[in-house]
Amino acid sequence: MRKKIVAGNWKMNLDYQQGISLFSEIVNMAKDEVIGDQAVVVCSPFIHLHSIAQLAKGAPQVAVGAQNIYFEEAGAYTGEISALQVKSTGAGYVILGHSERRAYFHEDDYVLSKKADAALEHGLTPIFCVGETKEERESNRYFEVIRTQLEKGVFHLSDNAFDNVVLAYEPVWAIGTGLTASPEQAQEVHAFIRNELAEHFNQEVADRTTILYGGSCNPKNAAELFAQADIDGGLIGGASLKSRDFIEIVK
Ligand code: PGA
Repeated sequence: MRKKIVAGNWKMNLDYQQGISLFSEIVNMAKDEVIGDQAVVVCSPFIHLHSIAQLAKGAPQVAVGAQNIYFEEAGAYTGEISALQVKSTGAGYVILGHSERRAYFHEDDYVLSKKADAALEHGLTPIFCVGETKEERESNRYFEVIRTQLEKGVFHLSDNAFDNVVLAYEPVWAIGTGLTASPEQAQEVHAFIRNELAEHFNQEVADRTTILYGGSCNPKNAAELFAQADIDGGLIGGASLKSRDFIEIVK
């Protein structure tokens, strides 16, 4: 049985108080409503992490994550935050390789592989993102792009280490655009990723790995996407900023 996860990615939204309010609503809904046995993860800006990790103690299914780390543990890296520091807030997850980090902050596969190492070393579960641009999809190069992102980002890990990695397929053309991948398009890539895992690691690892879909996922399309054989939940941007929408997706 694979772990089912719905993770919210707040991106660079919400001031401190707004984040606390939203997270409190999510925790209360998660406690009061039947949300099944899947895990709920909220990936907030760093400023919220410690406070929401405290609030999460009231709801066993809800965990907290960061959206980035630097790969060094400590030192003269002005403005950066390490895995060790994130872990000390009570967070358990970190998003790595989001397309916005790859595109706007020039994070390449090598840097991301080091970040994955740092996260795992300090007990954070990476939610490692892969996905193709519109141009790469239209030129039919998406399998090749995703294979390379996996090979360079996480295939250096041992089977044991990889057991603590969650993957997310996020087609760049679907992120924040309202253009969701169809369930068939998403399933095709998820099955491809699982097959790559079976070939590189082995079938057991492939069967155990949680693979999330992300990109304009909302309460209307979530059920059909998550019903696909190889889709184990979602990474939710815009719709994670409204507690009701987010909980509907979780449900
Ligand atoms: P979106 O973002 O749901 O707003 O498309 C998803 C993501 O970037 O993780």
